[in-house]
Amino acid sequence: MNLNRQKIFLYILGALLLGAILVWSAVWQNGTAAIVGQLGENSELKVDFFDIGQGAAVFIEAPNHSRVLIDGGPGSQILNKLGRAMPFFDREIDVVILTHPDSDHLNGLIDVLKKYQVEEVVDPCLAEPQANYQEFLRLIEEKGINHLCAQAGQRIKLADDVTLDILFPFESLEGVSLKNTNDSSMVTKLSYGQNKILLTGDAEKKTEIQLINAQADLSAQILQVGHHGSKTSTSAEFIQAVRPQIAVIQVGKDNRYGHPHQEVLDRLKNIKIFRTDLDGDINFLCSLKSCERGQ
Ligand SMILES: [Zn+2]
Repeated sequence: MNLNRQKIFLYILGALLLGAILVWSAVWQNGTAAIVGQLGENSELKVDFFDIGQGAAVFIEAPNHSRVLIDGGPGSQILNKLGRAMPFFDREIDVVILTHPDSDHLNGLIDVLKKYQVEEVVDPCLAEPQANYQEFLRLIEEKGINHLCAQAGQRIKLADDVTLDILFPFESLEGVSLKNTNDSSMVTKLSYGQNKILLTGDAEKKTEIQLINAQADLSAQILQVGHHGSKTSTSAEFIQAVRPQIAVIQVGKDNRYGHPHQEVLDRLKNIKIFRTDLDGDINFLCSLKSCERGQ
């Protein structure tokens, strides 16, 4: 190689090196900014109603990053959903709630307990011999997770201004056997500033009427429609007590139960409805004043 060609070669090499440095520093800066953003405080509360097939799973993250997962859906799909909702390096969930021990709420939580570091589990503690619930209990014990049996009046405090109140069951159902496990379904109310979100699991009309008769404070802007839009839930009386602006139905496409039932959609006719079978994941970002649908 003569001297000129050597010089040109060095110039090209230098330019390539400089280009690579510039590209990588930009990537590094953006990456760091994203990580710092995830670690720092936001001012928004995040509520994700996951599209998890025929089942339910709701992920709540407070501005201080305290997290609650309510139900895990029917299978391991929840792991992908959480993988996208949380930073890759973070595996901590403060509270896992199992509204009631039916497979379409429970099965995904077994994977979550295996893969995530969970502080506390809350559920109705029914006497349920089926294998998946026993596996759930075994994991709670093996991992030394706090286990609380749900009862109205209990409050989960995610932050000073973010609370999740347990409204149902009224009394502990520890060790109780129920023919219809939906009658044990936890009903909870999430509060952040002026925002109230009512989460009903698979609670049916019987529970709804009990809550109304007990004069529970049910008013909420966003309602998770009970039991995937089954006609056994979301009675006219209940809608009147909640007065939601938005109704979210977690339901699988072409499910064999015919959920959501037309009757329920008719009862909700003046309310904005989002459905996971049609809309996919339904995410809200809430400031102290209002919740907006996010991405
Ligand atoms: Zn269900």
